[in-house]
Amino acid sequence: MNTDLTPTIQRQARKADLTSIYDFSRVDLEAWCAARAYPAYRARQIWGWLYRQRVGSYDEMTNLPGALRELLAAELSILPLEPVRELWTDVDETLKLLYRARDGQLIETVLMFYPDRATVCISCQVGCAVGCSFCATGMGGLQRNLTTGEMVYQVVDMARRAEARGRPLTNLVMMGMGEPFHNYAATMRFVGILNDHDGFDFGARRITISTSGIVPFIDRLADEPYQVNLAVSIHAASDELRSSLVPINDRWPVADLIAAVRRYIAKTHRRVSFEYALMTGVNSSDEHALELAGRLRGLLCHVNVIPYNPTPGAPYERPTREGVERFVSVLTDAGIPATIRYSRGLDITAACGQLRADQIAAGAS
Ligand code: SAH
Ligand code: SF4
Repeated sequence: MNTDLTPTIQRQARKADLTSIYDFSRVDLEAWCAARAYPAYRARQIWGWLYRQRVGSYDEMTNLPGALRELLAAELSILPLEPVRELWTDVDETLKLLYRARDGQLIETVLMFYPDRATVCISCQVGCAVGCSFCATGMGGLQRNLTTGEMVYQVVDMARRAEARGRPLTNLVMMGMGEPFHNYAATMRFVGILNDHDGFDFGARRITISTSGIVPFIDRLADEPYQVNLAVSIHAASDELRSSLVPINDRWPVADLIAAVRRYIAKTHRRVSFEYALMTGVNSSDEHALELAGRLRGLLCHVNVIPYNPTPGAPYERPTREGVERFVSVLTDAGIPATIRYSRGLDITAACGQLRADQIAAGAS
């Protein structure tokens, strides 16, 4: 510690170093308690406060001794992310949060209400190294991976906000900023913490991990104990076109990607979703749909067609409703189950990476 700093800055510097309690698995928390001579039941109590009651401060953990609460506060941050902007739209019942991490980085999370479910869409990185040509997140490159705790906290905080509206959080998609397979270890820890039956008990089957197609990790995911859903962002069926949209296609071309998905299905017997961002005049013709159908034939899969959501600075156009419906009907007529997935919260820039880009452009970060 630099002793030239004022006490306030020293305190802030120390705080910035704090590990978050949301980085801990239940076993980590038990070990932390044991190392400080607290019995295992204290760890169970804390775990319950964090993931069953989902309290926002150590002060609310009323059955813990004061000394333990002070120790927790001194060593483990319970607020890894601070909300800086909150936007709600009545039109499609979507809440968008912009959080600031302890190092100042900005992170987006979206909560979407449907008649039968409430889904949180979380970020796993600040920025993204894949650099898809149509994606606001990819445009600025990768700043850093999120920690496990930063991912967990997005879900805990959004679960609280959903419950405050009388709705339980039921689903989770990793479709915000970042490529989950570029932050694989933290992502798996995150799934393990949320899935813990003595804590949040968030069913793995209600979690979807979306990837741009990092093939080796599709195989790794197939070997994990969690029954999470896999979504693959395909966007084009030919290598030439896909490489122009999703640069990692040069490394893992379409045939390799489909082969990995085939192995994944053979091992897990789980249906895979393919995402297809539809852009007028780019990947939207009947021939594109038929080519995709040819590639996917025989796979246990489903295609989500996402009408492209215009990103400032990207040269693509959003399709008309008729255009989207036509593309979907060519796919379904060819025997591939497909549905349209409209982006939520367009009026609050809820598409991937856009609110953060806005905030940075406004110099308000
Ligand atoms: N990096 C992962 C997950 C985050 S992106 C992935 O690429 O799969 C989640 C989905 O949103 C992806 O299918 C992505 O291609 C899509 N997407 C990104 N920007 C979009 C835009 N402007 N319009 C429509 N879909 C977009
Ligand atoms: Fe990254 Fe996904 Fe955006 Fe591509 S679409 S740049 S992989 S976040």
